[in-house]
Order: sequence, then C-alpha cells, then structure tokens
Amino acid sequence: MPPFLVDAHLDLAWNARALGRDLTLSLEALRAQDPHPDTPLVTLPSLKEAGVALAFATLFADPREGAREDWEEEVYAQLALYEAWERGGLVRVLRERADLLAHLERFPQDGVLGLVLLLEGAHALEAPEDLRPLRKRGLRLLSLTWATGNAYAGGNAEPGPLTAKGQALLQEMAALGVALDLSHLAEEAAWEALEAYRGPVCATHANCRALVPSERHLSDGLLRALAGREGVLGLVPFNAFLDPAWKRGMPRLPLEAFLRHKAHAEALMGGGRVGLGTDWDGGFGLEATPQGLDRHRDLCALGDEGFLGGNWLRWLLGWF
Ligand SMILES: [Zn+2]
Repeated sequence: MPPFLVDAHLDLAWNARALGRDLTLSLEALRAQDPHPDTPLVTLPSLKEAGVALAFATLFADPREGAREDWEEEVYAQLALYEAWERGGLVRVLRERADLLAHLERFPQDGVLGLVLLLEGAHALEAPEDLRPLRKRGLRLLSLTWATGNAYAGGNAEPGPLTAKGQALLQEMAALGVALDLSHLAEEAAWEALEAYRGPVCATHANCRALVPSERHLSDGLLRALAGREGVLGLVPFNAFLDPAWKRGMPRLPLEAFLRHKAHAEALMGGGRVGLGTDWDGGFGLEATPQGLDRHRDLCALGDEGFLGGNWLRWLLGWF
C-alpha cells in the first residue's frame, strides 16, 4: 500500500481565486495554459495521483491589499469554494473527529482528498468572537499572523509581542477546539503564544532558522519547545527557505538542501515530530523547488511513512 501522505500547508483556494487557476485540471493541462511565470506544482488530480490523503487547506487574504472587510469577504469566498468542491465530490472537509475517522476508512477505497481548514493570519477577524462562525463551518487551525503584524500578534516581517486581543483569541481557540499554527509569528510572540495557549500546537510550514537566519523559520529553542508540546513541524521544499544564498533565477538546489533541514529538525525534535508542509503553490513554482521535486508524487522519495504523513496523522488523532 502506498504511504498515507499528509501535506500540512496548501493554499488551494487562494490559487483558484487570486491566481485564477482551475485546480480540477491535470497538472499538465494547467501548466500548458497558465500565464504566470511560476510553473504550477499542484492541482487536485496531481494530489490524487500521489496518494495525498489529507491536506491542511488555507483561507488566506493578503493583508497588504485592501481593508479588513475585504479580507473577511475573501476568507468566506475561499471557504465557499472548498464547500463547493466538497459538494462536487472533489474533496472531503474534515470538520469533526467523526469526519476524520470516516475519512480514514473511506480514503483507501475512493482516494478523495481530505481537507482540514486553516485560517492563515487572523487579520480578517474583527474580534475573537468572529472565530465562532468559521469554526461552525469546519475551521480547525489558525495562525495568528501572516508576515505582517496585526491586532493579535507580531509577525515574522514586523516583529512584536502577543497582544491582549491575541490572548483573548487564543482563549477562544482553546474553547472551540482550534489548534495553533506557529508559522509566521515573530519569535517574541511565538514564545508568548506557547505560554498563553495550552491546546494543540504545530508549525504547518516553516524551516530551521539555524540554517536560514530569518524569523520566518523556527529557532532551535522553538523547535525544542514545539516538540515538548507534542507538536509537529511541516518542512517547506522551497529553495529560498532552504539556503539563504539562493535567489530567484538561480538553478534549482540539489535535494540535499532540503534533507539538511529535515536532519536538523529531526535531531532536535525527534523523528516522529517532523513532516511535510509544502506551501506549494504559495507564491512560488517549479523553478523554486529542489531538483527532482516537480509534483507531489516526487515527495515520496524524501522520507519514511512517518515523515510523509504518519506523524501529522498521529498529531491530528491526538486532539481532533
Ligand atoms: Zn499559505
């Protein structure tokens, strides 16, 4: 039996809406017609051919464009798109534990992708209570920021602390059963959030700061703290996140550039705490991935069953 693949970060609805990509096409067909300079890596059929069983699918609105009302509208439009895919039989949205357990039974037969919904950045929420309607429709994961700082916390590109409003949102998350994604938090805010929030934590898409010095990635201390909280790290096969010297336009890096991050994270966290969070196609394409990683089916060469999906699945089953 092929491994049970889990990808902990895919901006599927953002690709469909912001980039106008038809993700129901085969990857070849999308590549043949897509006008963007970044060659696409993901469509729903490319996930299916690889046997991806589960993905954390984002609701994401760019906080650098428009105002809060626009972000909220976009988040709900992306949610509606996932629901439309579900009605069309393309995906299953896993809202409650029973959905996850039923999916584990059904997936080996029908190969339908399961989605766990992740709000990437809380900037669309006017108040912590605004999380409730999203939770009702299936949201199970949230990262407080996306790069920029906001009313809730400092981000990787705009450092700052966790705010009082951020504390209140963490309380709401714990009460509703929404897990915390540490990705994109400023170092200071990440430590404060770990302290304030006692529910399930993870990092859906981040690499090792020891190898790429940027607040976008997790310090050794945070990696150890995440493992101490039984969290899982999703590693990103994106060249700019693997080697600080790599710039757009340069040749693709060898696969070893990715395996170095995997080895570093596993040494600190233990092998059972590291998995995949590809972030394909979250603002880059084929030109920016390591050699040999052209689509999801190529990821199977990167690790064992735990790394490819078992570790994320065990984490989910612990709290979902
Ligand atoms: Zn994303």
